[in-house]
Amino acid sequence: MGRLTVSAVPVLSDNYVWLIHDAERGETTAVDPSVADPVLAAAEAEGLHITQVLNTHWHPDHTGGNDAIRVATGCTITGPAEAERVSKMNRVVSEGDRIQVGGSEAVVWDIPAHTAGHIALYFEEEGMIFVGDTMFAMGCGRLFEGTAEQMYANMQRIAALPEDVRIYCGHEYTLANARFAAHVDPDNADVERRLERVSVQRDAGEITLPTTVGDERATNPFVRAGNALEFAELRAAKDSFR
Ligand SMILES: [Zn+2]
Repeated sequence: MGRLTVSAVPVLSDNYVWLIHDAERGETTAVDPSVADPVLAAAEAEGLHITQVLNTHWHPDHTGGNDAIRVATGCTITGPAEAERVSKMNRVVSEGDRIQVGGSEAVVWDIPAHTAGHIALYFEEEGMIFVGDTMFAMGCGRLFEGTAEQMYANMQRIAALPEDVRIYCGHEYTLANARFAAHVDPDNADVERRLERVSVQRDAGEITLPTTVGDERATNPFVRAGNALEFAELRAAKDSFR
């Protein structure tokens, strides 16, 4: 059990801004703030001080709140170089860089494909990883600026972490992903059970994240694809699945 706790701020139609707290230090880090006001309001309601913003990629629904949060709190902003399309970074990071978060630490992974400079933030001691729009519960991100080979390698890298590692994704896409998974992997009992569970959770308005490495290995068709070609076929099928 680590020293950090995580809470979600649901924003826009299906984005999550993740707040990482170190209660002992009174420091909160906001991951991928699409917008500022709900994030600042959530922090204020809990008496929390945002000291840092981290971005996983440049897309405006992950960075749009950066500047207003920095003005309101004086926090620093750290992310990949591509995020400077939206905000000046206090620090630009890439593969292997370490970021202090409260009294713990994240290591940066380069995981290009959704965007060319997309990064993940892996907290080894805490047993958690923030993957932005690269992996979703039972799904994966779209290939806007990279190849199926790159994205397949990202899936394999994340799935190679210990099975109890928690995965924090950028969107609530789980139900649609579960339906696609059940369509392409109809004999998988774990997928069937998870689809039922997720349906109940969404009917109750509950968040289905974080997921875990173990659950993704068991139920995510993009993780379970045998090779990059199979992955590419699944990705193309998902793009047109309704
Ligand atoms: Zn994105």
